[in-house]
Amino acid sequence: MFYRVLISNDALGSMALAAIEAYCRGDGRPTGRKGLETLGYVWGHKKISDDSIIYNVSKISVSLSATRHRDWVRADPEAGDLKNSFMERWSPELSLLGDFHTHPYASIDEVKEVSGFEFSDADFKSLESDDWLWEKTGNAPLMLAITICRVQRVHLSQGDQVRNNVGSFSVGEFRFWVNAAVGSLDGEERTCTGNKRSPVFLDLHSRFFNLASDRIERRLEE
Ligand SMILES: [Zn+2]
Repeated sequence: MFYRVLISNDALGSMALAAIEAYCRGDGRPTGRKGLETLGYVWGHKKISDDSIIYNVSKISVSLSATRHRDWVRADPEAGDLKNSFMERWSPELSLLGDFHTHPYASIDEVKEVSGFEFSDADFKSLESDDWLWEKTGNAPLMLAITICRVQRVHLSQGDQVRNNVGSFSVGEFRFWVNAAVGSLDGEERTCTGNKRSPVFLDLHSRFFNLASDRIERRLEE
């Protein structure tokens, strides 16, 4: 299977807003801790063919009831279903596609040192054990992670495709990476695409891609 993940400008902005607020301002608890992880849910459309699934993420909602720490975040067990039941009424044309969480790091050196934009083993385990998410997404949950760090110097830059499943961009002195993985059933067993050699193509800039030899008009056979 091949997976293509598109994220609307609005949805990507909402995900980056969640990441930057938890990173810079924390979550308002009396501890005043900053640099926190946060999470939320993603909705949109899914186009399923024999050999591919295309995800189009158009709506993001941050989960306010999640428990946030510097290196982990835990969802409230009822929050996803509550929000999804609301969305079934508010935007019945959309379906739940999966979830996202953030990875906050102090510096770009730290991100590089620990490969901070990769999913952790705990991320994969938590996805595989999330019965509710598998059920609601037709056994094809999308997992997104958005990594954030502060950079010292701000250079002119444009978005960067780090790997087919990892994209990166900067806003002011903040650098972001988005990583995407998709779960599927292998017989009865739940599996998930990994960090590397992933069949997921995260497509943040497709308007400006043109693939070599790609053609729109069918050429007449000679
Ligand atoms: Zn993670």
